[in-house]
Amino acid sequence: MLNKVSVDDIDVRGKKVLVRCDFNVPLADGAITDDTRIVASLPTINKLVEGGGRVILCSHLGKPKGTVKPELSLKPVAERLSELLGKEVRFAADPEVTGPNAKAASEAMQDGDVILLENTRFRKEEEKNEDNFSQELAALCDVYVNDAFGTAHRAHCSNVGVTKYVPTAAVGYLMQREIEFLGNAVDNPARPFAAVLGGSKVSSKISVINNLLEKVDILIIGGGMAYTFIKAQGGSIGNSLVEEDYIEYAKEMVEKAKAKGVKMLLPTDTVVADRFDNEANSKVVPSGEIPEGWMGVDIGPETIAAFSAAVSEAKTVVWNGPMGVFEMENFAAGTRAMAEALANADAVTVIGGGDSAAAVNQMGYGDKMTHISTGGGASLEFLEGKVLPGVAAATDKGRRKIIAGNWKMNKTPSEALALIEMLKPLVAGADADVVFCVPAIDIIPAVSAVKGTNIHIGAENMYFEESGAYTGEISPAMLTDAGAEYVIIGHSERRGYFAETDETVNKKVLKAFEHGLIPIICCGESLTQREQGITIEWVRQQIKIAFLGVNADQAKTAVIAYEPIWAIGTGKVATDEQAEEVCCAIRKCIEDIYDTDTAAAIRIQYGGSVTGASAAGLFAMPDIDGGLVGGASLKEDFGKIVNYDK
Ligand code: AMP
Repeated sequence: MLNKVSVDDIDVRGKKVLVRCDFNVPLADGAITDDTRIVASLPTINKLVEGGGRVILCSHLGKPKGTVKPELSLKPVAERLSELLGKEVRFAADPEVTGPNAKAASEAMQDGDVILLENTRFRKEEEKNEDNFSQELAALCDVYVNDAFGTAHRAHCSNVGVTKYVPTAAVGYLMQREIEFLGNAVDNPARPFAAVLGGSKVSSKISVINNLLEKVDILIIGGGMAYTFIKAQGGSIGNSLVEEDYIEYAKEMVEKAKAKGVKMLLPTDTVVADRFDNEANSKVVPSGEIPEGWMGVDIGPETIAAFSAAVSEAKTVVWNGPMGVFEMENFAAGTRAMAEALANADAVTVIGGGDSAAAVNQMGYGDKMTHISTGGGASLEFLEGKVLPGVAAATDKGRRKIIAGNWKMNKTPSEALALIEMLKPLVAGADADVVFCVPAIDIIPAVSAVKGTNIHIGAENMYFEESGAYTGEISPAMLTDAGAEYVIIGHSERRGYFAETDETVNKKVLKAFEHGLIPIICCGESLTQREQGITIEWVRQQIKIAFLGVNADQAKTAVIAYEPIWAIGTGKVATDEQAEEVCCAIRKCIEDIYDTDTAAAIRIQYGGSVTGASAAGLFAMPDIDGGLVGGASLKEDFGKIVNYDK
């Protein structure tokens, strides 16, 4: 799962929130002919308005290709939105999108106000994802929300570039639904899992077929692309659509399905027509015996029965692409029958966008499906197993979660091996970097024990000199030679018991970088400091000193662990909001020392009595990128912590 932050997780009161919507609506003579997309955006907008945000909406419309085309202005959308929201949506008429009118409009906003910017594609930088326009968009806001799944497969300024320059990014409800339904259907399906693929071309769905063959139990292929498969198996296909270049590929896919034990269904009978016309003569023939002069335009009745039966067996069905030329009423029966089969199936049914979504809606089965994707190209890329740039940028701003266990002074080498064996299967599926920071003497056996797993090994401390008369200490080279990749520096217990100071922390941090070790730099306040209200000031000071002499590129790779001392080993946990407040301030401090890029890249953990029960809430906070886990890292609970999102 992705580390997504949703609009439910952020406090927007008094903040300017830039929302990337999908207002790419059909227009005729300047009037909106279908406002479905505008209506679909209302839940996210209403949520932000009710939360007291100052909502700045943006979108593209059509293909102006970087020039100002008045007929593609978003003005009519602002008018329609005002009616639907029941409040004024001020249109920032600004051909530069982020020019003086937009700035003036955004500065005049009160909490709960909504404005709409001009078509983002009036700017030539938009589709090139150029920094200047991304920065201008980011400068308008404090928080960014992406709710435009339809463009998520493109990396443009308004959906990807901008996230580099905003401190907080989240996804809106529409985007969240897409990620959950498409993502879960493919990666976590209830089985049997069937995919139904159709449409005109094999070439446009190659990667989908290839990816889904790794995941499905049943693969059904219909539509124009089926004839390439039928020809590959030696059938005669008359004048049907075929891609000669993909015949070999089709053969490979049939073999792959066999090898994987996937049940692959191809049409056994076909409706053929003597020309590409609704009024053409037509008849049903076996799929491999299409006469010369005739072309396949729909699946036949026997195939409909077989495909429908297969769908009714499934618990998850993903459908992309029509079964025939459904735009022509006489050849729409196959597509209609599949829509009906999905509607009647006792299964999670997910419709990829584009033609299949249009067909399902047009045939009146829309409300019978679990989810109909709003993005054609985007849903196809999702089914190809690709990471969509728009989704990645808005979900975790590129920061992967990192969850480290600090074993402290526990576990002898042989006990360490037993614990690793116990934890290995529990942490195996984690969508996060998993690190075990173990006592120095356990590092060598631990490194061998985790080979081939997703576990990384770190140390709990090191000294800042290379070698010499420092009896009992461990040097950075000793750690790297032993195979450690991370090192905890400045843990509050070391600051407390072993007189570790901000200055020694800084020396150690510099040394760690010199040796290619990733430091997990700890900071945090005591109960007294919290009660005195000096938490932020105190932590900022610790961070400033720890990073003295560290350059931006090094800082980007560092991990900071915020550990409220009052919550370590006491069973007390900071609330999600308390933890977020300090982690957010730490990120701000990094931004002050370096820049927004560095602040966006650095990972900040929360540490202090994290458990399987508290992890999900804490790690969902926008500035918390995982945890430094004490006691719970020695138990089964650590498996729950690293799988907090499951
Ligand atoms: P795609 O964009 O690849 O999903 O293809 C959708 C198009 O495939 C629709 O416009 C259908 O009319 C077309 N299509 C489906 N089956 C056939 C067929 N047997 N022959 C020609 N076109 C087809």
